Amino acid sequence: MTTVVPVLVYDIALRTRFRGLLRRDGLLVRGDAGWAEFSPFWDYDAAESFAWWRAAREAADLGWPAAVRDRIPVNVTVPAVGPEQAHAIVTRSGGCRTAKVKVAEPGQSLADEVARLEAVRDAIGPDGAIRVDANAAWDLDTAVARLAALDRAAGGLEYAEQPVPTVDDLARLRRRTHVPIAADESIRRASDPLAVARAEAADVVVLKVQPLGGVRACLELAERIGLPVVVSSALETSVGLAAGVALAAALPELPYACGLATAQLLTSDVVVDPLLPVDGALEVRRPVPDETLLERAAADPELAQRWAARLREVERHGADQA
Ligand SMILES: [Mg+2]
Repeated sequence: MTTVVPVLVYDIALRTRFRGLLRRDGLLVRGDAGWAEFSPFWDYDAAESFAWWRAAREAADLGWPAAVRDRIPVNVTVPAVGPEQAHAIVTRSGGCRTAKVKVAEPGQSLADEVARLEAVRDAIGPDGAIRVDANAAWDLDTAVARLAALDRAAGGLEYAEQPVPTVDDLARLRRRTHVPIAADESIRRASDPLAVARAEAADVVVLKVQPLGGVRACLELAERIGLPVVVSSALETSVGLAAGVALAAALPELPYACGLATAQLLTSDVVVDPLLPVDGALEVRRPVPDETLLERAAADPELAQRWAARLREVERHGADQA
């Protein structure tokens, strides 16, 4: 496990605040099979980040299983912005027929969320699908009440992603709302990702390649969970997104649009031809970084050193596990 070369630490501004962040940073490496991204958020410790490193090693050393489709329908992601901006984001999404709208943002009210959802419905039209993501922020009773109101405002929700934190509450909520439930944090940050299936706590599961340790690990998990899968990104550059695209391309069934159209949340990318949607879908391909764009995205030496130190810590953790 030493052939991979840490090539570059990138540091790119986001278009709007997302997950509390204004910038995204991570490490890009190159191995025999191609380029890979290692970009756990800074609130992940070495133990949790090791899965992200396994995903990067798979991409760099092995590549990915064969694709069974050549385009991946994707959703546009609407951050917790005002209605005019929400409308514009959907209109300029590259033809996405599904929108994922962030809700439960600290400091915002139900009225803010209703206005955002009405604007998204107006922009996407009556045939578009709208889902919401609360990032585990509500308690059970709040979730029941909010979902009823947001379902009305949206003119019908496709599903609600992780409205409450625990698997038990997801299961309870599912019996108190007609809005389908998707599990995200309960899969990717759980010690037991199969608990959701056992508790019948979700209708859909969200799988992310980096936090779950790679494309093969996700394919295996999807088979064991036995629920429809939505592949989502961890807000990566197109190098990291390509792994999500590979997973979505290899899944036997793909009934929902995936959350992989997030290159548009970054102000720039490291490839000339970013993985951006055309007619609401991403092409299945693996773009290669461009020297000039890599230079432009390069982090300052201090941040680069923090990543180098972080990677050493994560590799040490992996060696202790082995
Ligand atoms: Mg989510």
